[in-house]
Amino acid sequence: MKIAFAASEVVPFAKTGGLADVSGALPVELEKLGHDVKVFMPKYYSVDEHKFNLEYQSWANTMPIRVAGIVHEVQLYKGYLPNSKVEIYFIDCPYFFHRHNLYTNDHDEDQRFICFSKSVIEAIQRLLWSPDIIHCNDWQTGLIPLYIKDNYSWDKMFENTATVFTVHNIGYQGKFPQKTLFNAEIREDLFYHGGRIEQDGLVNFLKTGLSFADLINTVSETYAKELMTPEYSAGMHHLLKYREKDFYGIINGVDYEVWNPETDKLIPYNYSKEGLSGKEKNKEELLKKFSMPYQKDIPLIGIISRLAIQKGFDLIQASLGELMHFNAQWIVLGSGEQKYENMFQALHEQIPHNVGVYIGYNNDLAHLIEAGADIFLMPSHYEPCGLNQIYSLKYGTVPVVRKTGGLADTVQDWNEYNTYGMDTGNGFSFVEYKPAALVNAVQRALGDYHNKPIWKKIQLNGMHQDYSWEHSARQYEELYKKAKLKR
Ligand code: ADP
Repeated sequence: MKIAFAASEVVPFAKTGGLADVSGALPVELEKLGHDVKVFMPKYYSVDEHKFNLEYQSWANTMPIRVAGIVHEVQLYKGYLPNSKVEIYFIDCPYFFHRHNLYTNDHDEDQRFICFSKSVIEAIQRLLWSPDIIHCNDWQTGLIPLYIKDNYSWDKMFENTATVFTVHNIGYQGKFPQKTLFNAEIREDLFYHGGRIEQDGLVNFLKTGLSFADLINTVSETYAKELMTPEYSAGMHHLLKYREKDFYGIINGVDYEVWNPETDKLIPYNYSKEGLSGKEKNKEELLKKFSMPYQKDIPLIGIISRLAIQKGFDLIQASLGELMHFNAQWIVLGSGEQKYENMFQALHEQIPHNVGVYIGYNNDLAHLIEAGADIFLMPSHYEPCGLNQIYSLKYGTVPVVRKTGGLADTVQDWNEYNTYGMDTGNGFSFVEYKPAALVNAVQRALGDYHNKPIWKKIQLNGMHQDYSWEHSARQYEELYKKAKLKR
């Protein structure tokens, strides 16, 4: 299949979150499966043209792209995704994309991504490359499915092109005043209360993508179900429920070239399912780094996270009294909301031998914590997919999570599964977003930590699991085939 993949951020060129990881990895896996994939992203100020050897595409000439009634001159650059033959085309329009951040609150934020969306389509036209699929991601590309079905429907090139739209986080929707209809050249009659574009009186780019794409998906099955409920959907549940038959959940993959305790270059001792002794040595190293005493048989709980309410830090705060009474040590790596940074700093000052804290972003330390901790805590309020719990499984670091979104799909509670006579559990989870539920799950994990044969079984169950991109890419392949049938 010929697949055009449009995203506003792609690793290693520009990243603010998980979308960039998906956009850097999935196209490469699809290419390995034999597909012809081309990626499209904006050429931001921060994209290093020389480092990545980007080539100016003179054959495309200047593309005149009209936004808000003004024609902008847009150029194309080409590069490759690392270690692959996947071409990535950069949409170059300095007026819109040379800003301090990838996303802004500037008055023309709508125009920036109108420009991007139209340019993707016009670049495809100039490539004389008729894609089977245009895969759009998040609100920044939400207008593309509408454009293909309406503004550009005259072009026979797109006659058989199906669109797929993926939601990576429903919290960001791209909402703009009605004037955006003019800026984007969207027909006025498509905009009406409760329609496919309008939400709360505003033009909603995410809703437009969800309405007009042939098929839609999000990044885990449970998050897909949750998004059909008012609690999680940020207003989109009616639409998603209406499109339930076209709405899928596909869990993200992880990069085991980078996150694998057998080969990880960022940890002092490599280890594997066959021999876990290196893990204990990593724990000693990790504790040493934080000037904390190592005592055999005292479990170490790790946290690596944005310190945001989404990740459950209000719940941790409300449970601190009980949690700190357990005979365990804690190491926290993260940055974010000041109050949670202060909370952990204060704990460290009170009980430095029990709580180690690093405020900031530190990839090397993230690897060492995954390798050295016994338990990984991730009590998220909501979690579209989540990566750290998947890394933890591979590192034999038993995850304790709230049963939501991607956490529910990847972590099976040891006790719950035992109840059904299965010994396939790989972690511990709780449902209710309440301190008592969190404390109970941590307590159960700490209890089993001291039962060595059981603990090893739980660790190995996790280490055996495979969340490689190849598996997820095959699911996207199926999704594309289904989308094609809709055209
Ligand atoms: P989200 O994308 O919602 O922040 P995920 O679990 O999907 O959460 O991905 C978070 C990624 O960012 C993981 O790879 C994690 O290791 C990394 N990360 C988060 N905070 C830090 C930090 N302070 N230092 C290093 N890595 C971090």
